[in-house]
Amino acid sequence: MGRISFESIASDVRFLNPMKEFAEDVQTLQIRKDPLLGDTSVFNPELKDKAQIFFGKCDQELIKSLVEETAKTCFFCGEAVAKSTPRFMPDFCSTGRIRVGEALLFPNLFSLGTYHPVIRLCDAHFLKLSEFTPELIKNGFLAARQFIRIAYAKDPEVAYAAVTANYLFPAGASLVHPHLQMIATPIPYSYQARMLDGCSRWQRENGTSYFADLIAEEKDGPRYIGQTGSWQWLTPFSPLGNNEVMAIHEDLGDLDALSDVDLSNLASGISKVLSHYETLGHLSYNYALYSVRKNKNDGSFRALIKIITRQNLYANYRNDDYFLQKLLQSELIITPPEELAEQLRKSFRP
Ligand SMILES: [Zn+2]
Repeated sequence: MGRISFESIASDVRFLNPMKEFAEDVQTLQIRKDPLLGDTSVFNPELKDKAQIFFGKCDQELIKSLVEETAKTCFFCGEAVAKSTPRFMPDFCSTGRIRVGEALLFPNLFSLGTYHPVIRLCDAHFLKLSEFTPELIKNGFLAARQFIRIAYAKDPEVAYAAVTANYLFPAGASLVHPHLQMIATPIPYSYQARMLDGCSRWQRENGTSYFADLIAEEKDGPRYIGQTGSWQWLTPFSPLGNNEVMAIHEDLGDLDALSDVDLSNLASGISKVLSHYETLGHLSYNYALYSVRKNKNDGSFRALIKIITRQNLYANYRNDDYFLQKLLQSELIITPPEELAEQLRKSFRP
């Protein structure tokens, strides 16, 4: 097993604080590095209880009116989904769309990848986070797996996939109606490419899989949350986004190879995480499940999901993706990963 090092530096920042009659103040920052990729994140303990300043508070009246207004013209509601959403070419998928329960998968009108289907998750136009049930999420992933199997059969080049979610406008969704999107391409997109390179390098240097080593290292530690079947849940040492939770499959790297039970266990974990986000006052989120076709995986990569919260919905909300994230590719930690893991551990107890 390769040794994983969790590096951080501390920085003392001194200034004359107007809130303390210009007395000298000192804040001790912690700057963390992701052990595989080196991505940085910063924690200022003075901001720990100031989540509301950063993320705001959901405006329930505004949400109610947005939900009502958007439902009137929603492409994913009722009869409209059959009439207004695209269909696949008959030689690609003879049924035109893929249905699993309430989940319906179809091509995107404006593709951002070689394959870019959209999956309408459910009949409901809006769900609270605690209403994303394991069954509903599982059906979305079953549709995604059915799609990747068709894509693999038709196209020997396609190999890198991500099943993703944007919930509500702060997360980049153009429609309120719960849905997933999936990108599948012959080349990995930037972040996935960096993970794959990192995993291959780790395997060359240590002879082991980085993610298997990470699970072994983190298990029962302060960032470990629990297990749902073959998925190990934890918070990353240096997160990419707010309140990030990740799950790693113990053995497999390809969505095609994940069993119904694997997808059921994945969905059950996602549902628990989303419910917890609701208790923290969040509503908007993103996630991505990363997958690599078996013949393009040197054995070092494992399927994994990353889930993050986004800004809350209120009038004139402030974006949470600013210079720090967008141009320095670093993240601000408000709740330390170790505390988030501790909060979540009880919902993952068998
Ligand atoms: Zn709708």
